[in-house]
Amino acid sequence: MARLIIISAPSGAGKSTLVRYLLTQDLNISFSISATSRKPRGEEKNGVEYYFLSPGEFRERINNNEFLEYEEVYPDRYYGTLKSEVDRILEEGFNVIFDVDCIGGLNIKKIYGKQALSIFIMPPSIEVLRERLEKRGTDSPKVIEGRLAKAEYEISFAPQFDVTICNDDYDRARSEILKIVTDFIQQ
Ligand code: ADP
Ligand code: 5GP
Repeated sequence: MARLIIISAPSGAGKSTLVRYLLTQDLNISFSISATSRKPRGEEKNGVEYYFLSPGEFRERINNNEFLEYEEVYPDRYYGTLKSEVDRILEEGFNVIFDVDCIGGLNIKKIYGKQALSIFIMPPSIEVLRERLEKRGTDSPKVIEGRLAKAEYEISFAPQFDVTICNDDYDRARSEILKIVTDFIQQ
């Protein structure tokens, strides 16, 4: 049976880095491309990082019941997982990996139960999170403050996940996640 791997974390905890690493491993997994109504950033391309939709198109798909889960993070800014995306990956015979926020992650876990493994990536501390976001250099100081305020709230969801991995030392965290995902896929 194909498996679903859900990765959630506060922004800056290292979720994308760990997801990218898992995708290079011999796990037969494919990335679930989410839909969003935010504008592409930098080099982002439609159908690669996200399916970029207008807020109106997004709402139309909500009305057509096309989403497994979705959220309106603030007015007109939607993120969601299309049912068709998950079906496509499963039909191709791959396991699925999701990079979604904590609420989305818990919703997907609820739908798929034992077929899914929900993993929370924990930053070593809020201070370290701040340093990483500053070093990454993709956000303004104001955006970083917003992400840090949200992080405390998101960390409160950690106990509801199947597994929590602390991303302190990167090499340790990546071998831990590889072992956990490998064991789950092979069980
Ligand atoms: P997220 O996807 O959770 O927002 P990223 O994967 O973009 O986070 O990581 C945020 C920044 O922290 C990136 O610049 C990344 O290279 C760096 N980073 C990730 N993991 C570690 C780690 N264990 N130690 C130090 N820096 C890290
Ligand atoms: P960004 O705009 O930085 O790409 O993503 C912002 C947040 O939206 C991240 O926490 C990311 O995990 C989350 N996200 C991306 N896709 C989805 C999705 O399909 N559903 C939900 N619930 N969150 C998502």
